Amino acid sequence: MRRRQLLLSLTALALCTRGATARAAAEETSAPIVALTFDDGPHPEHTLRLLDILERENVRATFFVIGSCAQRCPEVVQQAFKAGHEIGNHSWSHPVLTRLSAAAVADELAKTDALLVDINGDLPNTIRPPYGAMNDAVRGVGLPRPMMLWNVDTNDWRSRDTASVQREAMSRSGGIVLMHDIYSTTVAAVPEIIREYKARGFRFVTISNYIEWQANDSIDQV
Ligand code: ZN
Repeated sequence: MRRRQLLLSLTALALCTRGATARAAAEETSAPIVALTFDDGPHPEHTLRLLDILERENVRATFFVIGSCAQRCPEVVQQAFKAGHEIGNHSWSHPVLTRLSAAAVADELAKTDALLVDINGDLPNTIRPPYGAMNDAVRGVGLPRPMMLWNVDTNDWRSRDTASVQREAMSRSGGIVLMHDIYSTTVAAVPEIIREYKARGFRFVTISNYIEWQANDSIDQV
């Protein structure tokens, strides 16, 4: 009898745990998402400081690195990658890709790819064209990988003002937030941005997670 009771309580506990896990998973997938993206690094100091903040907050982000900068401090890129952040290709020398020949665009991307594979053993999943400048020709060179822009522009490069970066980052309801990890004013804005998005119930994703989520979301809508 005692054994049966124990069995029943264990079964109830298992069902209960399973229910809680399913509920947590459902809540997790239905939470709104935000992808923090940082361009133009790595920076030998500011990026490291940002990595500490992200680690402390248990948030994964995406770094669209410039190849020529990554070459100067590959250890920072490697640290970001090992911490679970996504590394994207932001060209080798940050030109306006739409003004280049297809061969030159291919070269900008390929050199950065080769370096990042060398550093991380991993090919970037996504590309972000400098200045967001792209057309069909540029997109064609990047295929099959997507070129990822943003829908929340913090204009941090223009303001260089922490309060303004925080305000702009929260001005839309999630999505893909553009920032630059080469400015101390931007890095200083990140803890509050994370706190605020967490308080609003957002889940932080990398850019590849964001693409998957969009794909699943559109399937759901069909
Ligand atoms: Zn850039």
